[in-house]
Amino acid sequence: MSLEIIDVTKRFGQTTAVDHLTLTVPEGKMFGLLGANGAGKTTTFRMILGLLLPTEGTIRWQGESIDYSKSHLIGYLPEERGLYPKLKVQEQLLYLGRLRGMKKADIVPEINRWLERFHIRDYANKRVEELSKGNQQKIQFIAAVLHRPNLLILDEPFSGLDPVNVELLKEAVLDLKRNGTTIVFSSHRMEHVEELCEHVCILRSGQAIVSGALRELKRSFGRKNLLIRGEGAFEELKDFPGVLRYSQTAEGVRLQIANEETAQAIFRHIADRVTVRLFALEEPSLHDIFIEKVGAAYE
Ligand code: ATP
Repeated sequence: MSLEIIDVTKRFGQTTAVDHLTLTVPEGKMFGLLGANGAGKTTTFRMILGLLLPTEGTIRWQGESIDYSKSHLIGYLPEERGLYPKLKVQEQLLYLGRLRGMKKADIVPEINRWLERFHIRDYANKRVEELSKGNQQKIQFIAAVLHRPNLLILDEPFSGLDPVNVELLKEAVLDLKRNGTTIVFSSHRMEHVEELCEHVCILRSGQAIVSGALRELKRSFGRKNLLIRGEGAFEELKDFPGVLRYSQTAEGVRLQIANEETAQAIFRHIADRVTVRLFALEEPSLHDIFIEKVGAAYE
């Protein structure tokens, strides 16, 4: 069973926000949805949740369409955070848990556990508006996962958080995944997606231009990165056949090369010319793939 998006299109008047998108998110996996601003990520999420109807196409979770009757199975952290500023943290979470069909006796220990875990126990009786943005986001995250959904949609979960809180949230997300939750999230931070997701999709103008298992995508991208550290004249590698990008580092060079054969040729070429301390062939990063496919306009 999985989340299936089948040939889905969403038009708003003249704008096509999502254009014939087909995706499968395997159950229990973590899936990263990437794309430049306006590529269609939030629109896709809203359709998955049944908040927007596709103009064309079908979306199914565990073989059925998602509607209000499934809200207890699904968690959503929206891009526009939507807490009630005047309500106290505890009251708010209690209310949201009740809305998802939980009993008060089950909600309270769960709230306490999460507040403890996120080091915000002392804020339980503060109004949301009294909390910093980062702490409000943690509350919003708790609101999305309190009812232990089996499908979790996170729209930019790490934006605006300091590095310590990013780690806290990442750990929480990984724990949920270990417990079998299927997680789809969007992020502009490639390293987060790279660290967490087995599967990714890159959207451009509503179309999936790259989609699949991250490991496979990296393997099939062809290009690799070559990191060389040592002493000697590296400059001539700029024009070496198969070298696509050249950048100097403090201790040597980092190259993007066309394929593994290029690495072999470079290895032979520099053997007598350079004192090599490190020669490392690396898979392309998700960032490399994104830039190549979406273009350098991406920030
Ligand atoms: P970001 O990274 O900036 O959040 P996104 O990938 O989430 O972007 P969407 O918010 O899905 O992008 O928007 C996709 C396109 O659809 C944009 O061109 C946007 O202007 C348009 N759009 C989204 N919602 C609506 C709406 N309710 N009415 C009209 N156009 C819309």
